[in-house]
Amino acid sequence: MIFQLPPLPFTMNALEPMISERTLEFHYLKHHQTYVNNLNKLTEGSEMAQKTLEELILGSEGGIFNNAAQVWNHTFYWESLRSPIKSEPKGRLLQLIVKNFGSFESFKDQFSQASLTLFGSGWAWLVLHSDGSLKIKQGSNAWNPLLENLIPLLTCDVWEHAYYLDYQNRRLDYITEFWNIVNWERVEERLK
Ligand code: MN
Repeated sequence: MIFQLPPLPFTMNALEPMISERTLEFHYLKHHQTYVNNLNKLTEGSEMAQKTLEELILGSEGGIFNNAAQVWNHTFYWESLRSPIKSEPKGRLLQLIVKNFGSFESFKDQFSQASLTLFGSGWAWLVLHSDGSLKIKQGSNAWNPLLENLIPLLTCDVWEHAYYLDYQNRRLDYITEFWNIVNWERVEERLK
């Protein structure tokens, strides 16, 4: 198997109580792993198996695109999170957030709204545009910002499997708690 499930950057219970170990058992060990397995099956024996996830996201469609992008998106999502700690963006990231969204609180409101109103399954993204501005994007299903030449900074998985065990249908409650586990230092690194 060429494509691998990357290790989590934290322990399975590190996101509690916002995201339970039980959710990670399904979301990471089952869902994320299944996208990896599907990608290996779909690319086995073809030149596609030699490509990077980024190359597959930009250069494939259908099942290969969907699974490659879902592998990439989930790895990026896990790396966007950390154990709950009081933390906020600083420095250039904070300056850009204030410039583009008015304030950190306003940014959180707008990102939460994008997460909440995305119809069906998908991802909310904070991205850096090539003109230097920050934007919030809604991406259905396996959409990825690389498709529009945007630099991804932060994402929230709003597929129901991300929150159903902990919050059932209450997506807003999950998004509200999401802010307690964002790894802002990692988001700042992505800006560089
Ligand atoms: Mn997911």
